[in-house]
Amino acid sequence: LQFRDYDLNEEIIKALDVLGYHSPTEVQSKVIPAALKGQDLIVKSQTGSGKTASFGIPVCELVDWAENKPQVLVLTPTRELAAQVKEDITNIGRFKRIKAVALFGKQPFAPQKIELTQKTHVVVGTPGRVFDHIERGTLPLNRIKTLVIDEADEMLSMGFIEQIEKIIQQLPRERVTMLFSATLPEAVKNLCRKYMTQPVDIEI
Ligand code: AMP
Repeated sequence: LQFRDYDLNEEIIKALDVLGYHSPTEVQSKVIPAALKGQDLIVKSQTGSGKTASFGIPVCELVDWAENKPQVLVLTPTRELAAQVKEDITNIGRFKRIKAVALFGKQPFAPQKIELTQKTHVVVGTPGRVFDHIERGTLPLNRIKTLVIDEADEMLSMGFIEQIEKIIQQLPRERVTMLFSATLPEAVKNLCRKYMTQPVDIEI
């Protein structure tokens, strides 16, 4: 099976070609078709499995370029992961000219605020800084149609669960939610039960 066999735009296929991605990894072969259908997903998988592109590809495919406000919010436990995810999405969305912004702490607020005043399709960030932007009114959420929670178990052990819940409560109810986690402790399952609609379980 090749990426060409999926119902993906030529712009996305071309970007995957440039990245040297020709056939999907196992997690990608399970997540991409389900995500393209708009299903809520709980994905149990490890880093290194190609999980970033498993959500990055359908997210880039489904972005409406013409929309000026953010459509996708990706929450990550660390700054490093936020920067990496932003870069991966920028690469996959290169020929579609998708603009991704990373928001994380220990960096001045003002440049992030300015970036957000420009056309932004995808926002990737750590919960603390994302919540700061929401509270200060610099991150509009009314057009968000997809939420990705990456490394949910890590966020739980770092004490981010409460902040994640506060963020989710600000999002439009009509949205797709995808959660990725290496393990599924009870607190993560709880989050899924509370904020997802008939989620599909994918285990790698
Ligand atoms: P991740 O699990 O998202 O951290 O990805 C692990 C590594 O696999 C990254 O370096 C990706 O660039 C690479 N990768 C992801 N998907 C593919 C693919 N379909 N073919 C080849 N390499 C890939």
